[in-house]
Amino acid sequence: MKKYVYFFGRGRAEGKAEMKALLGGKGANLAEMTNISLPVPAGFTISTEVCTHYYANKRSYPRSLAGEVKAALKKVELGMKAKFGDPKNPLLVSVRSGARASMPGMMDTILNLGLNDVVAAGLVKRTGNPRFVYDSYRRFVQMYGDVVLGLKPVHKDEIDPFELIIEAKKKQRGVHLDTDLSAEDMVDLVGLFKKAIKEKTGHDFPEDPMAQLWGALSAVFGSWMNDRAIAYRRMYDIPEWWGPAVNVQSMVFGNMGETSGTGVAFTRDAATGANEFYGEYLMNAQGEDVVAGIRTPLPISELAVKNPVIYKQLNKIRLTLEKHYRDMMDIEFTIQDGTLYMLQCRVGKRTAFAAIKIAVDMVGEKLISDKEALQRIEPDQLNQLLRPVFDLKEKEIAVKSGRLLAKGLNAGPGAATGRVVFNAPDAEAWKKKGELVVLTRIETSPEDIKGMDAAEGILTARGGMTSHAALVARQMGKVCVAGCSELEIDYATHTMRVRGKVVREGDWISLDGTTGEVLEGKVATKPSEVLQVLIDKTLDAKDAPVYQQYARIMGWADRYRRLKIRTNADQPDQSLNAVAFGAEGIGLCRTEHMFFGEGKIGPMREMILADTVDARKAALARLLPLQRKDFEGIFEAMDGRPVTIRTIDPPLHEFVPHEEPAQRQLAKQMGISYEKVHQRVEGLHEFNPMLGFRGCRLGIIFPEITEMQSRAIFEAAANIQARGIKVEPEIMIPLVGNVKELADQAGIVRRVAAEVMKEKGTKFKYLVGTMIEVPRGALTADEIATVAEFFSFGTNDLTQTTLGVSRDDAARFLIPYVEKEIYPKDPFEVLDQVGVGQLMKMAIDKGRGVNPDLKVGICGEHGGEPSSVEFCHRINQNYVSCSPFRVPIARLAAARAALADAPAKGSKKRAGKKAPRRKR
Ligand code: PEP
Ligand code: MG
Repeated sequence: MKKYVYFFGRGRAEGKAEMKALLGGKGANLAEMTNISLPVPAGFTISTEVCTHYYANKRSYPRSLAGEVKAALKKVELGMKAKFGDPKNPLLVSVRSGARASMPGMMDTILNLGLNDVVAAGLVKRTGNPRFVYDSYRRFVQMYGDVVLGLKPVHKDEIDPFELIIEAKKKQRGVHLDTDLSAEDMVDLVGLFKKAIKEKTGHDFPEDPMAQLWGALSAVFGSWMNDRAIAYRRMYDIPEWWGPAVNVQSMVFGNMGETSGTGVAFTRDAATGANEFYGEYLMNAQGEDVVAGIRTPLPISELAVKNPVIYKQLNKIRLTLEKHYRDMMDIEFTIQDGTLYMLQCRVGKRTAFAAIKIAVDMVGEKLISDKEALQRIEPDQLNQLLRPVFDLKEKEIAVKSGRLLAKGLNAGPGAATGRVVFNAPDAEAWKKKGELVVLTRIETSPEDIKGMDAAEGILTARGGMTSHAALVARQMGKVCVAGCSELEIDYATHTMRVRGKVVREGDWISLDGTTGEVLEGKVATKPSEVLQVLIDKTLDAKDAPVYQQYARIMGWADRYRRLKIRTNADQPDQSLNAVAFGAEGIGLCRTEHMFFGEGKIGPMREMILADTVDARKAALARLLPLQRKDFEGIFEAMDGRPVTIRTIDPPLHEFVPHEEPAQRQLAKQMGISYEKVHQRVEGLHEFNPMLGFRGCRLGIIFPEITEMQSRAIFEAAANIQARGIKVEPEIMIPLVGNVKELADQAGIVRRVAAEVMKEKGTKFKYLVGTMIEVPRGALTADEIATVAEFFSFGTNDLTQTTLGVSRDDAARFLIPYVEKEIYPKDPFEVLDQVGVGQLMKMAIDKGRGVNPDLKVGICGEHGGEPSSVEFCHRINQNYVSCSPFRVPIARLAAARAALADAPAKGSKKRAGKKAPRRKR
């Protein structure tokens, strides 16, 4: 018979850390902690297979489950020496979901399950602590009423109905804090809660503990399909079929009085990565009090002073866990009447800053290898390092002029500026209108996830460094200031008051997530530390610790990656930036971008509007020196690195004016009639320009354009080479679908190269290749490779032409397409490996079949997207080319792809040695 339930407790567990797929992250780690003798209250995990069965069978359970649950509950009772539902000595349990991938707060949890009027009365007798018992009871009814029976706010501006009842009670009693309410007040609350549930939902609160348990299990499994869990899964690519496990665990109580407490902590600082125990706790409280932000918790360092014995024990566990898991862990603990219990551990979420620092530090501490360090940093996380910080001077001025509104916790580093909105749906709506927003909430909850995603920054009035807002913001890489208690936020009027000022919806504010400051108005931003060292050169590397860590990671990435990384650049400054980021060449120089530069658009237009070959040649002759200068600039900036230059690609109408006044002005400049200009522009009109007169077709019909561009490239090459700088031009012909197109253009390029060499009395190396960006090019790659010396996949056009989806018109339907999961991601952002990828693979196989030395790269936007880069590695490309700021991301993605070929197992032996490299 299939096993569905796994017990843990009394120093032994049926599961272990490696069983995450079956037990979920939480269950697997509870088992692991039990096995390494950490104090874990007994419990059991109902496997993920039950969830799969539940949804595959009209929300019903496998037949054997009830028996297994009963048997496991017996073991828990034995382990805890208490009995479920027994008023004399009751066992209470928590029911918590545990997905394979951590989904903080996205799914439901129920605590203190097993309480009813009789059990509560019995527990009072046993503990002599009625306040604790009824506080636990009211919390249970509140959670159960919300999660299982469905009494929750309906409208976005509505306050939680249970909180309303509590607030009314506090008002009636004239107190401010929940903790000021008496046991009798709690008894009243239980009654009021049950009444509200019955009135508003029609459900009776179940008194039978076993019925409570099954109700909770169904609700927790059911929460896999709630809106926020679905949104989160989409955001983090967690497949729906990975249903969660559910953990049923005996309760330990942090709210038993002043010798009890609860906390959450990270084994290192999750924001900065500093190797310091970092967390928060509250005495006389239950877990959700710490994360929900209702009371502001104390820093863990305080525990060292107030309760050194427990702190010492906890710190020892921290070190044990780091050594065992070899990672920074996020833990939850409870102190019950002076005894410490571990309730959860998982690999801790961290900012990119922290991820990099921790990875580098752990290599230094010999906890992990450099290969493992690389595998622990998601390439996209590097974006956070490249994000702006405030211009310090501007900020100083803002502070001096009294614009500092308040200071909260520096929960998510970076600088953000935007307009205030007070709820998540508004954040989304404003973002859609193109506004930058700062989502401002009293506290956030998992429902706010989409709004948080839409915001530049997140500001909350309540909650600590481990509150929902702080945790999720860091994970998303958002700027966040949390627990800013001076803010008096009024959801109803969409305003907040702070230090006598009123901030309204739509007003600008700025958040410094690194210091926790909130400033009125906009504050200018400045590039990140990495940018200041690499690009602006305003900061010395030795004064930039974040940069130093970045540089080490990049160094390791370069040690292991096999893909070369190039950049798409068409200006010398862009090229220099890209080199600073580690680019090893230019993979795409779009020459048409140069035509919009100083003095070039005039002759370009003359060339386009010319009536005769001679007139066209005359205009091209004026363009030649300008283009040559452009290429000289690029060659000089690239200093001997290969440079792929593409001949003109876009349809010619893109270069001429379409409005009458501009056409009249052009006519005047050219000394011809407006009618003539107008007529010529009309003549260039195309119904579908993306499939029209563009790409190599232009050079075939107007060979003198290719001739001029080739001459400009080669003369520039000869000139720069004469100055002692190495030059490696690669001329790339766009939109080739037929080998004869390429042969035609390559013929011109090679002839001009020979002419220039002869004229200049010199020799230079160059290659001629093509873009593969229409399906016929891929399908006949074996023919094309007889002429081409390299292929570069233009996956923007190849996606467009393979999918039959216009890259300019797709947004309207592609977003719903992705929502409907027709494509998992926008195929113009993330390569469609199944379709477009298949063509690419075929093209490589066919091309290398006739030309084994064929160099292959990619220069579509996918060249800087991590999963697409990994694909390019797997299909044996030589390089990827992406925009300058994505070069670091591509370097890391390429290294991770190489390491995935041969998984890391303590790389020390090979450290320093280069991975074997492909010929390129
Ligand atoms: C491509 O099509 O992928 C490409 C790089 O060319 P462009 O975007 O200029 O059409
Ligand atoms: Mg293209």
